[in-house]
Amino acid sequence: MTRAAIPLIHVENLYKSFEDGEVLNGISIDIHEGDLVSIIGPSGCGKSTFLRCLNCLEYIDSGTITIAGVTVSRTGKEKELDKSFLEACHHMRQEVGMVFQSFNLFPHRTVLENVMLAPMVVKKASEEEAHEIALRLLEKVGLSEHAHKYPATLSGGQTQRGAIARALAMNPKVMLYDEPTSALDPELVGEVLQVMKDLDNEGMTQIIVTHQMRFARNASDYIVFMDGGEIVEMADGDVLFETPQNKRTKAFLRHFS
Ligand code: ADP
Ligand code: MG
Repeated sequence: MTRAAIPLIHVENLYKSFEDGEVLNGISIDIHEGDLVSIIGPSGCGKSTFLRCLNCLEYIDSGTITIAGVTVSRTGKEKELDKSFLEACHHMRQEVGMVFQSFNLFPHRTVLENVMLAPMVVKKASEEEAHEIALRLLEKVGLSEHAHKYPATLSGGQTQRGAIARALAMNPKVMLYDEPTSALDPELVGEVLQVMKDLDNEGMTQIIVTHQMRFARNASDYIVFMDGGEIVEMADGDVLFETPQNKRTKAFLRHFS
């Protein structure tokens, strides 16, 4: 596949701190349409915060994030979040689907209703349209026969596949996943990863924070290694695992060999 010249996601010099200090220390990265990118790194290094910034769930201190032509940018000086910033966030969120480790589905709605909600509430789709969208997506993630069940009656793997269907119902340009399989029993991990592989084959752009090193290595176009709020190294999976360049990457990967 030929690469579009303009990256779908362009992040430049992103800084983010909480009261306790700097969490993202100048992240810059370009991600192209259709890429499947895995982010790995030690606990607390800023992976979740980075994903949350990409989905405008955190306010950034400074830097620029552009996704599908929508730019969110701050100089860090102004205390007030100006209107254009919030508007840009609102736009950007429409382009980005996100799946968390758990608690992704509303418990008092069936799986089908969960998936129908976003198109109806956010996209103002009719019930009929939303129903059609939801059935198609549930089929895609292999949940057709569970459409009318409540989340509590599903396995963790089914729940996460339902969560992916629900995020897809917004028709996002990018899917973000924050450790989507970390809460799952080992035998259920594969079915969730398979959905991501299927989406990759369809050309979806995806960023996944994961500890599934085999998946990261084999399924992603490249792996980003983060440490201390920075991108330390990024490379093709085999290259990163076989010939990591940075000593922090080497030290981290030693845990997985
Ligand atoms: P990771 O996902 O790589 O484990 P996180 O992005 O969750 O790392 O966290 C990075 C750092 O930011 C940690 O030190 C964490 O305690 C801190 N942090 C994350 N979210 C918040 C928050 N809402 N308020 C204060 N500190 C936070
Ligand atoms: Mg995290």
